[in-house]
Amino acid sequence: MKIKSLLLITFSISVFAGCSSDKDASFTDNCGGKAPGGAVGLLMNINQDIQMGLASVQQIELDPSNYPILDSATNPVAYGHIYRIRNTILNSSKVYYKDEFPWRIRIIKDDNMLNAFCTPGGYIYVYTGIIKYLDNEMQLAGVMGHEIAHADRRHSANQMLKQYGVETLIQIFTSGNTQQIAQIGAQLLALKFSRTDETEADDYSVRYLLGTEYDPQGAKYFFQKISGSATIPEFLSTHPNPDNRVLNIEETWKCLGSGGNTGTFDARYLEFKNCLPK
Ligand SMILES: [Zn+2]
Repeated sequence: MKIKSLLLITFSISVFAGCSSDKDASFTDNCGGKAPGGAVGLLMNINQDIQMGLASVQQIELDPSNYPILDSATNPVAYGHIYRIRNTILNSSKVYYKDEFPWRIRIIKDDNMLNAFCTPGGYIYVYTGIIKYLDNEMQLAGVMGHEIAHADRRHSANQMLKQYGVETLIQIFTSGNTQQIAQIGAQLLALKFSRTDETEADDYSVRYLLGTEYDPQGAKYFFQKISGSATIPEFLSTHPNPDNRVLNIEETWKCLGSGGNTGTFDARYLEFKNCLPK
């Protein structure tokens, strides 16, 4: 009995390791692309990313005046549009945790916020402000690809790990200390990404969109639009310079073979914008 279970464990580990390395190989490219890793990859289970993400979701749901969520039941057409964009990105086969994270998406009704974000574990939020500001679906796909990359590359999970250490983080979530969990949730919502993480998220936006119906440089057109705009959104002031980001996205796209489609989907996007509440 003992030997049998030991064999079973050995077998399942080797099968798992086999799958994992095959998967990792398919995420490696000559332009710096690789499976998510680093300290967080070694020390933290991805379920902890989901737990941290849920802590932020809880903070958002407790604060409807700052986060007025557009109801999906009464706005099915708008959600149909945003689900389509999200699913196209997820089905690109380049999102590493496509099947592990929930990738739940919500629209926040605030026309003054040119922003979108994604918590660890894949809870995506997009403001009506940025949807209305952009010109076409390809630009929004570029922005959403960028936000999805922050979760898929485990950027904020990695920051929390550095700050708290793995033992404290696990202890907070296993003890169910609501006050500490709320603190982590709120902290994640105020988190600033490093320059390196921002650049990586831009690069992965290109990888995700390559092979979809969208122009893979979707994020670039967003930065070009922002760069020429009189009102640079507040969240961008902490990001690398938009012009440098445009150049970096172009370089990544060229390195990946300059391929992909050219779809922008202006008409479909106009329908999306028009069905949002005024
Ligand atoms: Zn970012």
